[in-house]
Amino acid sequence: AAMRETRTKKTKTVCTFCGVGCSFEVWTKGREILKIQPSDGPVNAVSTCIKGKFGWDFVNSEERLTKPLIRKNGAFVESSWEEALSLVAQRFGAIKDQHGSGSVGFISSSKITNEENYLIQKLARQVFETNNVDNCSRYCQSPATDGLLRTVGMGGDAGTIKDIAEAGLVIIVGANPAEGHPVLATRIKRAHKLHGQRLIVSDIRKNEMAERSDVFIRPKQGTDQVWLMAVTNFMIKQGWHDQKFIEDNVNFFSEYKEILEKYTLEYAEEKTGIPKHTLIQIAEMIRDADGTCVLWGMGVTQNNGGSDTSAAISNLLLATGNYRRPGAGAYPLRGHNNVQGACDMGTLPGWLPGYQHVTDDVAREKFESAYGVKINESPGLNNIEMLHSIEAGKMKAMYLVGEDMALVDADANHVDKVLSQLDFFVVQDIFFSRTARYADVILPAAPSLEKEGTFTNTERRVQRLYQALPALGDSKPDWWIIQEVAKRLGANWDYNHPSDIFDEMASLSPIFGKANYQVLEGWNSFLWGSHDGESTPLLYENGFNFPDKKARFALSDWVEPYAFSEEFDLHINNGRLLEQFHEGNMTNKSAGIHSKVPETFVEVSPELARERGIQTGSLVRLVSPFGSVKLTSLVTDRVQKNELFLPMNSVNKESAINFLTGPIYDSRTNTPAYKQTKVRMEVLSAD
Ligand code: SF4
Repeated sequence: AAMRETRTKKTKTVCTFCGVGCSFEVWTKGREILKIQPSDGPVNAVSTCIKGKFGWDFVNSEERLTKPLIRKNGAFVESSWEEALSLVAQRFGAIKDQHGSGSVGFISSSKITNEENYLIQKLARQVFETNNVDNCSRYCQSPATDGLLRTVGMGGDAGTIKDIAEAGLVIIVGANPAEGHPVLATRIKRAHKLHGQRLIVSDIRKNEMAERSDVFIRPKQGTDQVWLMAVTNFMIKQGWHDQKFIEDNVNFFSEYKEILEKYTLEYAEEKTGIPKHTLIQIAEMIRDADGTCVLWGMGVTQNNGGSDTSAAISNLLLATGNYRRPGAGAYPLRGHNNVQGACDMGTLPGWLPGYQHVTDDVAREKFESAYGVKINESPGLNNIEMLHSIEAGKMKAMYLVGEDMALVDADANHVDKVLSQLDFFVVQDIFFSRTARYADVILPAAPSLEKEGTFTNTERRVQRLYQALPALGDSKPDWWIIQEVAKRLGANWDYNHPSDIFDEMASLSPIFGKANYQVLEGWNSFLWGSHDGESTPLLYENGFNFPDKKARFALSDWVEPYAFSEEFDLHINNGRLLEQFHEGNMTNKSAGIHSKVPETFVEVSPELARERGIQTGSLVRLVSPFGSVKLTSLVTDRVQKNELFLPMNSVNKESAINFLTGPIYDSRTNTPAYKQTKVRMEVLSAD
């Protein structure tokens, strides 16, 4: 029998939950996690939040997948790796041979490492010769990336978390960092309390940051773009813009001014409900601030105008000279620990690693000679388009990594139907997710504590994680699994360690400059961005990422939010809770967290509660055009009037938000407009 491990092992790791990228030592004895000890992390120093500190029980959960599973006669049967991998390779290979490259799709994960994401796109592009590869940023952050790529040319934060802390003014739009990005939020709270930083929050819900803000606005749902453009227009009219910065750095100013004409303060007041004098106050605060940072989240991106609103944010910063200097710029708040990295690695249908577009001949040829295959010059299908393609009978096989699509995609009832249409479906995960029910083969992967690699946080900082725990059962790191599949399809990859993969990726991606695995040793980190090779805390110091080094005002008008029929009279918003990470499929396995926040609930305003005769604890059914859920209510003044809020911590069909959301999308990226959901409410029991 194995000797009981008695020594305490201390291993540096990077948090697996949110995009802040806290790093710390994890103290273990055998498989037991003794404690999380922050000390030298470049982002968090001695801080963590409740998830980073107490959220790790999931790695030892009895629900972990420990053996490959193959569906045989309708039931899942344990198998050897050899049998499972051979089956995956054989079926995928046969489907590609019979139906062509367009018949297979790959969805990668924001939870796995950079190296693993890189290999998924390489598997798609080299072995299957398809650009049908995407990741879950399609559900959240693609519109932010789109808005930035159009205006400043790079899909990343303009500076670092330090810049946010040092800004004179922070504007948070449609995000709740106090719960979603807690350690980053503490930096803002501190700067606000001790260093005179000003804070503006725009949100339909009075979240914790709103409570602390100097100005809190509640624009009508889906109208952030209007007030952003009206404030920009007003500032230009007053001469409060930065004419010199624009002349030197930005194209299309006169064209943008023309579009802005319509966005008067009166128009904005009418559309958004924000009084004119408050809009003027916001403009004055931007004028007077020594550096403005705008942070935004899914309250912006998950709308039909999510990309255009993101672009309007960037436009406002360009007009006021709030780029290319410390303490300023655009900061989309990445949700998952490695959503930034997944995109950087090219698990995107139009982008090769390092944001090199597939239509760029030079970039494509570089990858073609490295991979020895032709790369398609047309972008592939994104997550949503893949579902449409499955429905149309064109896509036959899908390979999904670490993503619970049947829970996180909008209109989950419909997704259920589509996934069951696949001829062959592989799910690679650490748990038997809701989506795994539709799989033909399930491959048991390893969580971050059981492998090596790198993650990239919201500020573009690449950090290494080291293996703290031995593998559980027969589970394997994702990079090992992907390589074994590729090998069985004739690829002669020969990676012995994630470092081999990282170094190959960096050699093909100029934005990673001189980064290599050695540079990242221990607590070291590297911020990608500059082509000259050095770590780049401040993007765009040498100009914007366009051939003439100039940024571009994006020329987009606002489009009204989707109109529901009047029967659906209540708007329902959704978001995160501090204690739970998203749907809770990891954090809910921590007994302490589960006991604190057992079930999800719906927040109801005091006005609505009075009108409908309900109180905290009342049971209600919410019905949308796409489905229904049943929940207990919590009466709170965080929401007002006909606004409801449903935290997303549920994995159950009875209560998860996506059994209400529908097929409404951001026009440029196909990101579901989760925030544009309306329901009617039936009171089931009033006590
Ligand atoms: Fe982890 Fe985010 Fe919490 Fe830091 S703030 S400990 S990265 S969940």
